[in-house]
Amino acid sequence: MIEPWLLISACGVLGLLIGSFLNVVIYRVPVMLKRGWAKDASEYLEEEEVQDSIMLGAEARSDLAKAAKAVKDALALLPPFSLTQPRSRCPACGHPISAIENVPIASYLVLRGRCKACKTRISARYPIVEATTGLLFAACAWRFGLTPELACGLVIVSVLIALTLIDADTMLLPDSLTLSLLWLGVLASAFHFGFVPVLDSVIGAAAGYCVFWLIAMLFRVLRGVEGMGAGDFKLLAALGAWFGWTALLPIVLLSAGVGSVVGISLIVFGRKTLLSRLPFGVYLAPAGMLMLFYGSEITALVLPGGN
Ligand SMILES: [Zn+2]
Repeated sequence: MIEPWLLISACGVLGLLIGSFLNVVIYRVPVMLKRGWAKDASEYLEEEEVQDSIMLGAEARSDLAKAAKAVKDALALLPPFSLTQPRSRCPACGHPISAIENVPIASYLVLRGRCKACKTRISARYPIVEATTGLLFAACAWRFGLTPELACGLVIVSVLIALTLIDADTMLLPDSLTLSLLWLGVLASAFHFGFVPVLDSVIGAAAGYCVFWLIAMLFRVLRGVEGMGAGDFKLLAALGAWFGWTALLPIVLLSAGVGSVVGISLIVFGRKTLLSRLPFGVYLAPAGMLMLFYGSEITALVLPGGN
């Protein structure tokens, strides 16, 4: 039997390292997505068959073909960009960041938050993401001990941290993250190491998607605006898959509460312009984390008489 403090510290340290990787994910995944969309669009619009079928006039066709080719050629010339390539660099001077300058939190403190080469300030968000991930990993170890739920918790926390910040930065909730989280939740339940029976999980996923889809439809019909994106449907579906359909109402209610907390922290980190149209994933993902730690207590509060 492993000592609880040892497990909690080990998970905390693992969280610092994963947090460092999440910083890379948060910055690079949206760029990779947008590059992919630009490449697909340019290749699509270059095809004569496509130009025929959308019935463009001759002049527009030739302009479109030229523009599409220019974009495609420009993209082809860019150096590869992925989670592993290129090595991390200082955005100001291009100084490559060595392993010793990349130790979670410690490097930031030793370098006093500045690039080693050009002394430009490095965003405090990097160490904050690392520390938050470390703390939440430690909290999972404290909450679940050495159990299959611990592994589930670490996965959920990691994906939700990445989604929260990607949504705050770009208003995107990448499918690669929301749908992976959804299917992992269903699989975990199917193999009996998740938090709810598989039927609750499947209904939770389907109902989670439908609830937001319906709300978005209503918004569109009544007010003629897009209230929510499909990414929000998929994220609520993923949370439904992990925590079951009974968790959906508490999660939606919590999101509103969490929203004010997140809103205040965004002001503290100087991102207050987002307040006017805060992306909903920024509310949802932290509400999902609260469900992870206090699911049964919260559900009992919101749905008295349930279990
Ligand atoms: Zn620099």
